[in-house]
Amino acid sequence: MAENRKRIINIFENDSPVSKETRRIFKQKLELAGYAVCDGFDPEAELIVCIGGDGQLLRTLHQLEFPSNPFVGVNTGHLGFFQELHPDQLDEFIFLYNQGRCTVQKLKTVKATIEIGSEVFYQKGLNEIVITGDSSQLTHLNMSIDDSFIEKFSGDGLLICSPAGSTAYNYALRGSIVDPRLDLLQVTPMAPQNTAAYRSFTSSILLPSNRSVTIHPENKEGKGINIVADSTHRHYDWIDKITVELSDETVQLLRFEHYDFWRKVKSKLL
Ligand code: NAP
Repeated sequence: MAENRKRIINIFENDSPVSKETRRIFKQKLELAGYAVCDGFDPEAELIVCIGGDGQLLRTLHQLEFPSNPFVGVNTGHLGFFQELHPDQLDEFIFLYNQGRCTVQKLKTVKATIEIGSEVFYQKGLNEIVITGDSSQLTHLNMSIDDSFIEKFSGDGLLICSPAGSTAYNYALRGSIVDPRLDLLQVTPMAPQNTAAYRSFTSSILLPSNRSVTIHPENKEGKGINIVADSTHRHYDWIDKITVELSDETVQLLRFEHYDFWRKVKSKLL
């Protein structure tokens, strides 16, 4: 006899009172609709709900190590670029979800491979990888695209983002907004020095998805490198090589069936 298993949904929220209250209401509604809402992460969950802002969605992704389960975000008073629902749309969402009337936006992630001697470290992000120095002095980064040396970049650092990350920190650095249906990697300079002393590129570079950016930092005693993947920060000393590329691992974000990226850009950014 076929087992009649409940469909599981997980909910993660930030600490704000409105998010806590939204969680309470959403849990009640989902349970009434026949779903099992459990605390914490269940790998069998068919959906992970994140209540808060984009930051909460990013934190949950990192905390759960980028699971393949689909996500949906409920925005409780933040910018909410990844977040699709407003707290007053919970009934509408459950109705449409039950009818299969949502679309899945597959977002590519970006990953960094950091080599120090024989040790290798990995970081990945949905938005971006940011590489900066950790002093107030200029950071010098020898940058290549695949094996072609481009230049010794001098400035605060480099931001390398996925299409989905183009509207985040990248946009504040005057990088280009990229439609996430395009498969590309964007490299954006952070406070580049372009003087008679140092020549650094000053606008974003767009690369096909199968290209990688390699960086050999100029190492000096007492000057390490910070690598931030979304908001996950790590510090390294004496890095030999950093390779940043798009990953085939995707984040699946649920959207209402008539979701339009450019309408979202217009309402949130322009
Ligand atoms: P935060 O510094 O508290 O907030 C960063 C802001 O960026 C929030 O308003 C957040 O939206 C928004 N955001 C995040 N991802 C976005 C996306 N893909 N498109 C448009 N806006 C987006 O940091 P956080 O909340 O932990 O988020 C981490 C992200 O902050 C990083 O991945 C980086 O992109 C971004 N950041 C931006 C700057 C800058 O703009 N100068 C500096 C550092 C980091 P919500 O309000 O909905 O959370």
